[in-house]
Amino acid sequence: MNNYALVLNAGSSSLKFCLFERPAGEGWRLAARGQIEGIGTSPRLSVKDAGGECLANQDVSVRDGHEAVEALAAWLRSRYGGSSVLGIGHRVVHGGSRFVGPTILNDQVLAELRELVPLAPLHQPYNLAAIEAAFKRLPGVPQVACFDTSFHRGQPAVAELIPLPRDLRYAGLQRYGFHGLSYEYIASVLPQVSPRIARSRVIVAHLGSGASLCALKDGRSVDSTLGFTALDGLCMGTRPGALDPGVVLHLFQGLKLSVAEVENLLYKKSGLLGISGISNDMRDLLGRTEPEARLAVDYFVYRAAKEIGALAAVLGGIDGLVFTAGIGENSPEIRQQICRACGWLGLELDESANLNHGPEISTSRSKVSAWVIPTNEELMIARHTGLLLGLAKAA
Ligand code: AMP
Repeated sequence: MNNYALVLNAGSSSLKFCLFERPAGEGWRLAARGQIEGIGTSPRLSVKDAGGECLANQDVSVRDGHEAVEALAAWLRSRYGGSSVLGIGHRVVHGGSRFVGPTILNDQVLAELRELVPLAPLHQPYNLAAIEAAFKRLPGVPQVACFDTSFHRGQPAVAELIPLPRDLRYAGLQRYGFHGLSYEYIASVLPQVSPRIARSRVIVAHLGSGASLCALKDGRSVDSTLGFTALDGLCMGTRPGALDPGVVLHLFQGLKLSVAEVENLLYKKSGLLGISGISNDMRDLLGRTEPEARLAVDYFVYRAAKEIGALAAVLGGIDGLVFTAGIGENSPEIRQQICRACGWLGLELDESANLNHGPEISTSRSKVSAWVIPTNEELMIARHTGLLLGLAKAA
């Protein structure tokens, strides 16, 4: 019988999961990938094996995240037997200043992670609900939390600083950075993909529904565009990115919005959706002709190019630019626009390589080499989980 590490990524309406196996002498290998979507509306379980063959595609009776984990546990038992899951790795978006690396979960850790819910209201509650449910539905299986913030710890003090009074800073007000599992994965594969830039100055653009940039020096994060919460930096699907804090004061004082209304506005109604009034989805917007859709795309590119300039200043110049996540991996148009805006850095795009998704999308003359590298946060979580639980050597 094979033994597996289960990776869970729980969101507000979906539970995504991957099952990894570790054949003797090899690295972690994907065995199955699936999700329960439509939690709370019309939930459906779909699972494919590593080759894309359908293993399950069925309606399930699931009302919330707890029941989704229960349905997944039942499916795993029916397909793989009772004791095949050796460990569970969870994506947890916020680890605060306390959790600087993957951590084995227990009641105490869970309690501390609950205190961080207000800092990531869109993600953290669902991440924690999946952990609680897994303790109940897969009892005895050790669980590990892998944080989106951890990879950024160790940044210079000025990069983490929020310039407010000291007592507030000591109470935890600092820039944390997110998408760390994605950046850590990219940093881990760069030595194979492009040894030339792996040890030098690289900006990674994680452009998906959530979007951010990370400045890597010698494979380590030295700055990033997301800060105290996942609202800062680039324009995102429904989040505005960097905003004059005076705007937030005006929403409260001038427009008399409530805390809940402002939170909803900032996390769910702004960004691409807010600008266009049409969609939060880049693919949709690229297919539309309305000027509002065009403006949303233009602003997305403008902010990305502007922040690349800022991080290039932090790094003292750049040697490489890497695109990843849904938009970064799949949209030649957005990559083209961003790369053109980075011409002043010496980046010259290879148009046909870009259309073919690279992996290298810059010309041989380009001073900055540009790449498309698919991210794999789940594999990163499986590696951490295996290592921490002693399931196997690092893959
Ligand atoms: P993620 O959050 O990483 O899954 O990325 C989701 C985003 O990627 C959405 O805005 C999608 O519209 C976008 N996306 C996926 N495929 C494409 C594509 N072919 N062209 C443009 N955007 C895409």
